[in-house]
Amino acid sequence: MNPVIALVGRPNVGKSTLFNRLTRSRDALVADFPGLTRDRKYGNGQLGDKTYTVIDTGGISGDEDGIDAAMAEQSLVAIDEADIVLFMVDARAGLNVADEAIANHLRVNQKKTWLVVNKTDGLEEHSAMADFWTLGLGDPHPIAAAHGRNVTTLIDEVLAPFPEREDGYVPATDKGIRIGVIGRPNVGKSTLVNRLLGEERVVVFDEAGTTRDAIEIPFERRGRPYVLVDTAGVRRRKNISQIAEKFSIVKTLEAIKECHVAIMVLDARGGLVEQDLHLLDYVLTSGRALVLAVNKWDGLESEQREKMRADIKRRLGFADYADLHFISALHGTAVGDLYPSVERAFKAATGRWSTNRLTTILQDAVSEHQPPLVHGRRIKLRMAHQGGTNPPIIVVHGNQTGSLPEAYKRFLTNTFRKVLKVRGTPMRFEFRSGA
Ligand code: GDP
Ligand code: GDP
Repeated sequence: MNPVIALVGRPNVGKSTLFNRLTRSRDALVADFPGLTRDRKYGNGQLGDKTYTVIDTGGISGDEDGIDAAMAEQSLVAIDEADIVLFMVDARAGLNVADEAIANHLRVNQKKTWLVVNKTDGLEEHSAMADFWTLGLGDPHPIAAAHGRNVTTLIDEVLAPFPEREDGYVPATDKGIRIGVIGRPNVGKSTLVNRLLGEERVVVFDEAGTTRDAIEIPFERRGRPYVLVDTAGVRRRKNISQIAEKFSIVKTLEAIKECHVAIMVLDARGGLVEQDLHLLDYVLTSGRALVLAVNKWDGLESEQREKMRADIKRRLGFADYADLHFISALHGTAVGDLYPSVERAFKAATGRWSTNRLTTILQDAVSEHQPPLVHGRRIKLRMAHQGGTNPPIIVVHGNQTGSLPEAYKRFLTNTFRKVLKVRGTPMRFEFRSGA
């Protein structure tokens, strides 16, 4: 798992500025979870051969008399999820009572904490830092987040104890399809995981391999191997009634990265909420194959069912490529139907098509429906080839492709999806113009 860095401090000390700088690398994915926890942002970044996750915590103003409550609300959760805390203070504003209050909390916390003095640009470093020694959190580290001053050196030092990690991690397929069961708290993930594993003709291999740090549960169903990526900590519990592990966004994001197909669980009783949309959006941005499971379908009134169906249609239109199942994890209803969808999504996500085939589809599409003229010249689309899998990337070559209207791109996407029978995975298109 990536080392997790939490940025903590008063508002305005420069946390978002540092967050943006740290998540600027090419593959950085930022997940925003305003619904889940007011103002907490998650991002991935990379420095040299090391990758990391950063959490921006918004701010602790210290003005409210219950600083504990304010801390508890978001920063404590972030600190809890983090391996490293960067406590940021503002060199220009100097030491502040709120800084002291936060420092008191951090001193009793077991997490490795770095005192970071920001906005030292144009200041004499030594005098800028003098104030902050009294916080009792060790050496202050001067940076200027806005200008990048000392930032790389600091992160390099912060990450020193953590091992390198191969980038571009692609989940291995040799042990079967890796399934991640994800969703916000209480939608029924643990119940579903137990149900999937408890099904007839499922053989769970007891030696849960912990090849990577995410907990993996290998099993076999009808002779086919699968691996469950367990975010709910189901396997570590002795029995089902034992309390589930705390919901962790970091673990959820990690599971999305480490699975081939995500089963996103929604709660028919609780309805659709912001958090569902944000998680789903993250799954799509990650390019993960997806199956939607609307859980707790048992015993619902028909109006409730209609409302849920309508809500899904209206708000989840952007994920309409995913198979949708209405299930009851509790009773096991329709749970077995998830497997064919998982298989189909996996097959689509990892499918390979020849340049010939893709070019033929492109040319058929073009002759059915010509691209428009731009400045009196028709946009030409000549050839298509596959640029990658999981998610499938189709690279289209032609002339003036930069002027291709969105509506035409949608037409092409739909055509390729239909002809190639791609369901359950996002698909990406790249357009290139040649001479
Ligand atoms: P946050 O509330 O802690 O997330 O703080 P922001 O990142 O929004 O920054 C607050 C203000 O400080 C903004 O106006 C930034 O442009 C400014 N700021 C951030 N980093 C630096 C820095 O290194 N030097 C200076 N001079 N200003 C900075
Ligand atoms: P998690 O936090 O997502 O892992 O959710 P749990 O699996 O712990 O389930 C949360 C609550 O929803 C528990 O009380 C479950 O018994 C209940 N639950 C889970 N699945 C179903 C279902 O299909 N129908 C009903 N009625 N309740 C369910």
